[in-house]
Amino acid sequence: MSPPPPSYVDVLVIGAGPAGVMMGTALSHAGINVRVVDKRPAKVMAGQADGIQPRTIEVFQSYGLAQRLLERGNQMHSLAFYNPRRDGKGVERTSRVPDVTAPTARYRFEVTLHQGEIEAIFLDSMRAHGLEVERPCVPESIEISGDEKELQSRESYPVKVVLRHLVDATLDAAPNGMHTNAIDPSVESSGSTLETVYAKYVLGADGAHSWVRNALGISLDGEQTDHVWGVVDSVPVTDFPDIRNRTAIHSDNGSCMIIPREGDKVRLYVQITDGLQADDHGRIDRSAVTPERVMEIAKRSMRPYKLEFPDPPEWWTCYVIGQRVAKNFSVKDRAFIAGDACHTHSPKAGQGMNASMNDSHNLAWKLAHVLRGWASPDLLKTYELERRKYARDLINFDKKLADLFSGKAVSPGNAEGVTHQEFQGLLQSMGGFTSGIGIQYIPSLITDATSQSLAEGLVIGQRFVPQEIIRIADSRPFEIQDLLVSDTKWKVVFFVGDPKEVREYAVVTAVGEYLQEEKSFLRRFTPKGAAKDAVFTILTVSSTAKDDADYTDIHPGLRTHWSRAFTDDIAIDEKAGGTAYRVYGIDPASGAVVVCRPDGYVSFVCALEDVTKGRLEEYFGKFMIATKV
Ligand code: FAD
Repeated sequence: MSPPPPSYVDVLVIGAGPAGVMMGTALSHAGINVRVVDKRPAKVMAGQADGIQPRTIEVFQSYGLAQRLLERGNQMHSLAFYNPRRDGKGVERTSRVPDVTAPTARYRFEVTLHQGEIEAIFLDSMRAHGLEVERPCVPESIEISGDEKELQSRESYPVKVVLRHLVDATLDAAPNGMHTNAIDPSVESSGSTLETVYAKYVLGADGAHSWVRNALGISLDGEQTDHVWGVVDSVPVTDFPDIRNRTAIHSDNGSCMIIPREGDKVRLYVQITDGLQADDHGRIDRSAVTPERVMEIAKRSMRPYKLEFPDPPEWWTCYVIGQRVAKNFSVKDRAFIAGDACHTHSPKAGQGMNASMNDSHNLAWKLAHVLRGWASPDLLKTYELERRKYARDLINFDKKLADLFSGKAVSPGNAEGVTHQEFQGLLQSMGGFTSGIGIQYIPSLITDATSQSLAEGLVIGQRFVPQEIIRIADSRPFEIQDLLVSDTKWKVVFFVGDPKEVREYAVVTAVGEYLQEEKSFLRRFTPKGAAKDAVFTILTVSSTAKDDADYTDIHPGLRTHWSRAFTDDIAIDEKAGGTAYRVYGIDPASGAVVVCRPDGYVSFVCALEDVTKGRLEEYFGKFMIATKV
């Protein structure tokens, strides 16, 4: 039988875990030609990662996916700490604090839900946009063209991938659900077909043992640790008072982390420290770890409280942590890796799935821009710049946390131990980072921090801070983040003060007129023939009292539609609103312009007067491609 003809695709995603399905969702929503393949015959059914951070909930919301997550998931609002009692009779609570210590978080809690359910949210959303994961399917080879002309061309498909579509392959899953991440070779042969795919871009989202990373020759910095974690998902019977709160237990009998989950389920993490053997290559033999052993350590850590497991665990695993970051996140800016393929670390800070999805969230709009010819391919370099720095920070944090979590707590017999203040202090001081809210991208082609003083509360490089504002035309309150949706468009927010004031009127009118001119960024960087708002969404926020405001007060150049004119005032139900200018540090007398990237991050601020001086054209001109007149 002759092989099928080669196929062509703009983006081929290999791996449909959290990183892969986020990319599939973002690109399918944007109408980009994308395929996603995975070697698993079906999505993850139970276990693995389960924690969604406040920033990631915001990201879900920006794709219209938060509602299902919030409905089905468990919410963690409090974090409790337990330490050894002075009388040596087990542990007692030392303190209980808010689980999220990022004051500007829109969602002041974490959500826990098993990875399969989370992936399902994305799979359904992709399906609604006509995209299904092709499975089981594995790549056999990947080759990137060495021809510079081909690499530079927007029309070319310089990455060749040979895919094997398997027919009846099954994963060699151990009964405990601990996947070895390998296809059983005995079932791989019959009826499978090969397909040659030519892609403009490839994303390896194929997990910690990434085939793509290895095939591209990308090495990892860092090392495999000897930290072995046992994890059990169950519905225990207990009188432990904080079983429904995230809890860190330091006991003389071991350390344990409690993660309450959907329904009555509870996840227990314990670090296994005794009785582990390493082979000649230093690989730890995990077969000595059984769910019974994990449950036994958890029971001992929680004494004097009762902890019983009437039923076998729903899922359990044991895994050795590598604290590693890939040397590069891309090759020739044509093949990229994301998620665990780029970085691995311990589960204690609950970052795995979040970091992975946010890698793809960062890259997706950049790929869409370059594929559509809106931006120069140099934009793609900012993916590695931004996300590799974040990954390195994550590993450094993880190392500190691992040391404090594994160390024995200070007690009468162990004066040198870890103090409660040290442990709680680290978790709380890093709350901005671990919640994802404080993540700040460094200055680059797209992040210009020169005029921060005009809006001190909107930190350039960080995500746009939530605030409630009112739509002028119908007095309806809106969370501003809900206007900054992940639709691959730039949002340019004009804080115009009160245009009824004489000074503002003149400045705002000049800005509105400028935006209608051919030379303005709106015209210059929107392709000819495309919808006027194809690339940029203009939002205007005035400071006029709502009872005096009319949307017609906003100059037509700043009001592309009545629905895009807002004011900063208290909503009619008086529950929120009226604080945006103050929180953002913008003076209503002078106003400001704030540029928000398509992924929700503040990237540029300037004065209203700067608009007519061409500052926005200067900013966008560094990476956007001007339309040929
Ligand atoms: P993954 O979720 O690993 O997804 C990779 C996808 O790629 C998978 O669907 C896989 O089938 C597919 N794939 C792999 N190789 C190929 C190939 N050659 N061809 C095609 N497809 C391929 N994190 C926690 O926070 N807590 C935990 O308790 C926890 N437990 C875990 C237990 C296990 C057994 C594993 C493997 C991971 C665990 N993690 C845990 C880590 C967490 O699951 C990851 O951080 C997160 O899933 C990373 O998402 P990802 O999309 O980058 O990779």
